[in-house]
Amino acid sequence: MKPPTVPRGRFAPSPTGPLHMGSLVAALGSFLNVRQQDGEWLVRIDDIDTPRNVPQMEQAILLTLEQHALQWDGDVYYSSQHLVDYEQVLRALQAAGQVFPCTCSRREISNHPINNQRQTGDTLIYPGTCRAGVTADKPLRSYRLRVPTSAIEFMDLLQGPQADTLAISVGDFVVKDGQGQHHYQLATVVDDQIQQITEVVRGADLLASTARQIHLQNQLGYRQPKYLHLSLVTDALGIKLSKQHGATAVDNTLAGQNLITALTLLQQQPPDELQHVPPAGIIRWAIEHWNREPLKSFPIATLPTTLPD
Ligand SMILES: [Zn+2]
Repeated sequence: MKPPTVPRGRFAPSPTGPLHMGSLVAALGSFLNVRQQDGEWLVRIDDIDTPRNVPQMEQAILLTLEQHALQWDGDVYYSSQHLVDYEQVLRALQAAGQVFPCTCSRREISNHPINNQRQTGDTLIYPGTCRAGVTADKPLRSYRLRVPTSAIEFMDLLQGPQADTLAISVGDFVVKDGQGQHHYQLATVVDDQIQQITEVVRGADLLASTARQIHLQNQLGYRQPKYLHLSLVTDALGIKLSKQHGATAVDNTLAGQNLITALTLLQQQPPDELQHVPPAGIIRWAIEHWNREPLKSFPIATLPTTLPD
């Protein structure tokens, strides 16, 4: 496949809840990053985690983007329409000996001495139990990808140089579970390849996933996109805004105000005159003035308590 001739970014929300200020900031950052380079911005609905999907939520998300003048290029991409692609990639990796079946339960992995020092909330490290093969008397729990013992190094355009030794941080990780569901890391890498994404701008909560995705790209011979992980938007208590923590949906009737807030969180210093400009005009200003440099000195964007919620 020919690489795109202009930078191409994407926003990939899950249809598990409405967009909140944290997701609007991520969408806007990704949008401005490519639009300022006259690039393309694609929208992908990451809808493979079907039990968590909320019916019609993707329409609500797309409406919110439109009302905030975040117009995407081309057709919306639905991950759920690419299960065949994920399976094809998984089989190729398995045929190459990179993916292997695993019968370990979560409890077995958690009880392994390698996880003794683990704190609640830490990622479980896979001890490699099934690397050399499984016995037939236990049910299949997952398919895992072998990871290297050397560090995966990459440059994050905002967070700086990164190095992650996957064998120490996570071990061989799950790419498909025993119920046949492909996992996020695999799906995202395949989706980014199909959509020919050259610039990934997203929240810093996904920084820890990046080395796994780069390892997958390396195994598959894919081109590596540039990465920029935006600092997370937290509430006044320092908790990351998320659907899990009940962050409020952005109100489409306040689109202009929301964009000003999002630009402020992105350290873009929108002028007061923009307060009375419709969303499309705010976006035009933002594309013209987009500058990611000030973000480097603001590692965490905190949502002020004075905002309407
Ligand atoms: Zn195992």
